[in-house]
Amino acid sequence: MSEHQHEATEGVRVEDLRFDAKGLIATVIQQHDTREVLMVAWMDAEAVRRTVTTGRTWFWSRSRQEYWCKGETSGNIQTVHDVLVDCDADTLLVLVDQKGVACHTGERTCFYRPVIAERSEEAPDE
Ligand SMILES: [Zn+2]
Repeated sequence: MSEHQHEATEGVRVEDLRFDAKGLIATVIQQHDTREVLMVAWMDAEAVRRTVTTGRTWFWSRSRQEYWCKGETSGNIQTVHDVLVDCDADTLLVLVDQKGVACHTGERTCFYRPVIAERSEEAPDE
């Protein structure tokens, strides 16, 4: 399943990940071959374990307070190729094969809008 061969000593165990005060870790989801950044969501330890063991992405919904498996209802599943952790062990990068689209809006990726620096002319504080 893994594209990269990790030495056992290089791996970071789930219990050693640096979850925030709410027990969550930010997770970036990226298309494994095009390196397209698809979405960002939150995992807790159980979601990380489910993702690694099932080969599908699992997240913790802060608003609904429940686990959800990406594509469970939409069919836009993400097949996991690799789960990586950054140098600080506080952010995950999950390389996937995205079926269909990643964003609930119907866009391929959640990152389809640029941020603009223009100030509103009606801004009362300017
Ligand atoms: Zn989205």
